[in-house]
Amino acid sequence: MVTPVMPTYGRTEVAFERGEGAWLIDTSGQRYLDFGAGIAVNCLGHSHPGLVKALQDQAGKLWHTSNLYQIPGQTRLAERLVANSFADTVFFGNSGAEAVECGIKMARKYHAMTGNPGRYRIITFEGAFHGRTLATIAAGAQEKHLAGFGPVVDGFDQVPFGDVDAVKAAITDQTAAILVEPIQGESGIRELPAETLHQLRALADETGVLLFYDEVQCGMGRTGKLFAHEWAGAAPDIMAVAKALGGGFPIGACMATEKAAQGMTGGTHGSTFGGNPLAVAVANAVLDEMLADGFLSDVVDNGEKLRAGLERLEISHHNKILEVRGTGLMLGFKVRGDNLALIGKLVDAGLLTVVAGDGVVRLLPPLNIGDAEIDRALDVLDQVLGEFES
Ligand SMILES: *Cc1c(COP(=O)(O)O)cnc(C)c1O
Repeated sequence: MVTPVMPTYGRTEVAFERGEGAWLIDTSGQRYLDFGAGIAVNCLGHSHPGLVKALQDQAGKLWHTSNLYQIPGQTRLAERLVANSFADTVFFGNSGAEAVECGIKMARKYHAMTGNPGRYRIITFEGAFHGRTLATIAAGAQEKHLAGFGPVVDGFDQVPFGDVDAVKAAITDQTAAILVEPIQGESGIRELPAETLHQLRALADETGVLLFYDEVQCGMGRTGKLFAHEWAGAAPDIMAVAKALGGGFPIGACMATEKAAQGMTGGTHGSTFGGNPLAVAVANAVLDEMLADGFLSDVVDNGEKLRAGLERLEISHHNKILEVRGTGLMLGFKVRGDNLALIGKLVDAGLLTVVAGDGVVRLLPPLNIGDAEIDRALDVLDQVLGEFES
């Protein structure tokens, strides 16, 4: 018999009751160090006082009005995202997939508006993950996500990961945009070199296609810059963010230049809940922390510390760790053997991590993680790797 909750996920048995910073406490009182952060969502850990206060204050005033009215917190959030990025304008939704979907529509609309309605196709990289709507599974083009959900939404062309020549060859007079994650998360923390982003930027400029980044996972401070592509310095025309934007409250945003967004006029796109007062109150509180002096440089320091520890483990457990990957606090290591089995052992030892493709274990701790927690996580990894039969 089917479970009341539709069984689309593989879940472990653990159920959490509350959280404190980087720690989660389950229903039996057991404590776990959270190096998954709800898949890069809980950027300030659990029960952060600033976020709790922002949500509680807003909850006592107003929850929802719809986008038929002005939402001052939404205006403020958009202004702050614009002031701190390449973007001129922002559309708010509730999730990563909606943010990407908005960007897909925007890219098509841009070309339709500028006299090229036949330019609708979008080039993506193998290993991509852009969400689970019909259009975003077509963009990701992963067989395990597409199987049985056909016909596949038309308009996506996939090329090998990071292969700029293949992108060049795939661009036709039907191409609207190139959609890439500066660091692929789901497929195993795979970074695009800075040079590749610059080459894609140049190619987009030469051919008139739009460059569209999916920073749903790698954005919002995760790498130690507000947005991951800032390390390379190659800006997009469109960018999707979500996960950490609300620190655990659902919100997504599609950010764009004025030029790319020129078709997104009154009535062209919408969302009932997108950017509602509760979500934007929390997201503004997230930005209060992230934009404060020293926050992002601490992420860099914490990332270097965790990475250095992982590299030590790579040496001491060289038969089990094949490679350490990532930037800032978007880190992972490739395991010899069954990464899922190792993740299970880590849960038993009180450390939560996240599975990824290519045999990788992802480490995505809260961005405000402390030295003691990093040391603790490395100790647990050392001990569990020591006992792990790969
Ligand atoms: C998680 C993720 C998405 C989808 O976000 P949802 O909120 O689950 O819709 C899209 N792109 C990337 C890169 C992601 O990591």
